[in-house]
Amino acid sequence: MVRPLCSAAIRSRTPKDPVRKVVPITDGIVLGGDGFVVFAGPCAVETREQLFASADAVAAAGAGILRGGAYKPRTSHRSFQGLGPEGLSLLSEASARTGLPVVTEVMDPRDVDRVAESSAILQIGSRNMQNFALLREVGRRGLPVLLKRGAAATLDELVAAAGYIQAEGNDRVILCERGIRGFDPTTRYVLDLAAVPVLRERTDLPIIVDPSHGTGRSVLVGPMAKAAAAAGADGLMIEVHANPEQALCDGMQALRPQEFAQLMSELRRLVPLLGRRMLRPQSVSESKHLGTADEFIAP
Ligand code: PEP
Ligand code: MN
Repeated sequence: MVRPLCSAAIRSRTPKDPVRKVVPITDGIVLGGDGFVVFAGPCAVETREQLFASADAVAAAGAGILRGGAYKPRTSHRSFQGLGPEGLSLLSEASARTGLPVVTEVMDPRDVDRVAESSAILQIGSRNMQNFALLREVGRRGLPVLLKRGAAATLDELVAAAGYIQAEGNDRVILCERGIRGFDPTTRYVLDLAAVPVLRERTDLPIIVDPSHGTGRSVLVGPMAKAAAAAGADGLMIEVHANPEQALCDGMQALRPQEFAQLMSELRRLVPLLGRRMLRPQSVSESKHLGTADEFIAP
């Protein structure tokens, strides 16, 4: 038998998948098992109407977790900075209304307790991936943490940053690939999907992918979301806005409710082929008034 030049013996071997950590959130939502969880909602909480329109749509389409920023890390101090505490209470209302647990960003160690009252998962944004005081504080708080990769951080640095949270006794960390800086302005960032299998080699933590920030363009979100699922991600984070033209933040990358519902119906076909189940909170699955996602996209 002729052996291929690059034989198995000289190829670097992928270590066996270690026993993967599972991070339970609430009400049947678990990251890191055989489930697949879609986090979705607007980039920023702008108004009650805007948040509810997005929250209702993502819940109806089958999302597992509601996202939305109350504190926004913006490049310019002149840009909309988020509604702060008012945004947090709107998120609590939206969570009660839809049954979806909330993930929202905390930027300041002094806000951790306040944000924790409205959020099932504390999000550390890419700009704060190495804010060690903040990492320690969310580690001490003990809630699940979504840690986004810095735009110029290596994967080892991401794993090391997670270590700061774990060192405080909090093992409930979810990693998020959200794109890194490249040279080509065609996309906002370069979504590094190889990060998913690499992180699976290096950590036992759940890994999700954010194709919204990773591409910056709504038409690219669906293809990269499906590619992320195929690469082995445990879930996705996707921005959805009922009226992207009017969005105060990141409108270019937001999916409209119909587009999101379409993507979710494609994921419902793809994800089982990858040996996973789409998860949403038990109470939402059982509720009558939201209907199924397929009903939602029917004309
Ligand atoms: C966000 O998800 O709201 C966000 C600001 O993303 P990132 O930190 O990845 O830029
Ligand atoms: Mn955004």
